Amino acid sequence: MNVSVQSLSELVVERVGFGIFVLDRDLNVLMWNRFMQDHSGLAAQQVVGRSIFAHFPELPRVWLSRKIESVFQLGSFAFSSWEQRPYLFRFEHDRPITGGVDFMQQDCTFMPLMREREVVAVCVTISDVTHVSIVQREREEALLKLQEYANRDGLTGIANRRFFEARLGDEFTRWQRYGGDLSILLFDLDHFKKINDEFGHGVGDTVLRVMAQRVAGVVRAQDTFGRFGGEEFALLLPCTPLDDAMHVADKIRRVIEETPVELPGASVSVTASLGGAAAREGVPAYDVLINEADAALYSAKRQGRNRSVAFVLAEA
Ligand code: GH3
Ligand code: MG
Ligand code: MG
Repeated sequence: MNVSVQSLSELVVERVGFGIFVLDRDLNVLMWNRFMQDHSGLAAQQVVGRSIFAHFPELPRVWLSRKIESVFQLGSFAFSSWEQRPYLFRFEHDRPITGGVDFMQQDCTFMPLMREREVVAVCVTISDVTHVSIVQREREEALLKLQEYANRDGLTGIANRRFFEARLGDEFTRWQRYGGDLSILLFDLDHFKKINDEFGHGVGDTVLRVMAQRVAGVVRAQDTFGRFGGEEFALLLPCTPLDDAMHVADKIRRVIEETPVELPGASVSVTASLGGAAAREGVPAYDVLINEADAALYSAKRQGRNRSVAFVLAEA
């Protein structure tokens, strides 16, 4: 009976779907199951009785030695998940090469083998968790994409109003705490209704897309450019005083005015009016900045359009 239980155990260890091997305190291999053989290409006879590093010099020597030694000293289990260390052995995996996973992803368990309260060896198990890691990576990528879409405007691909205001809120809080400069620009395309009426809504959409791309091409990477609504846009300029912001405003105005949007059968000229405002003492909240830039924009419209105007208190 005893013999058959033992042979059954041996069979299980041989056939089980994860790696099992045993190391002594000097990291010599005492046992090596079929899974380890199949994936390493090395049979038990080749590996047993020799240091684990003899055939696998690429193993993380310091890390593995410490891990095994700690199990000997403490007599308790130790673990390592693929999230901390993607793999111990460079085994190939049998998944299609998609998720950028190079080798079989592995969870490892280090189990003390005790005899009379003394650790005599450490049994290491290796589980193939490649599928879990791929699913998780895909989920993380999908989440990132979703987040990205949630922050973007569907038509133009630039930031949407929600994201713009969130960024403005952050920058405003930073300005309140640390001071410095912070400006915003709002701009609105001139007589856009006419473009829609004359050429149709589809052309109107194309004009919006082209203009957004042109402006995006001239703003600095650290500035946030967003679509505020309809044909209204906003630019957040951290660390920028109002004078400098108004230079940027004029650059944007020129970029929009300079080149008509060429479409099959139509050349559409567009201009924009811009308003700028900057954070300064007494401005209690970021919406005040938006209102001030909006007032300046309205003033630019009143003064004849295709111009940029800075908010000054007298206008309030
Ligand atoms: P103003 O110079 O005073 O700004 O004149 P305007 O004609 O541009 O007036 P207003 O800004 O009030 O009108 C905006 C127009 O933009 C009205 C709306 O039909 C159009 N519009 C808003 N969103 C979109 C859009 O997503 N696509 C298109 N094609 N048109 C839009
Ligand atoms: Mg308009
Ligand atoms: Mg408008």
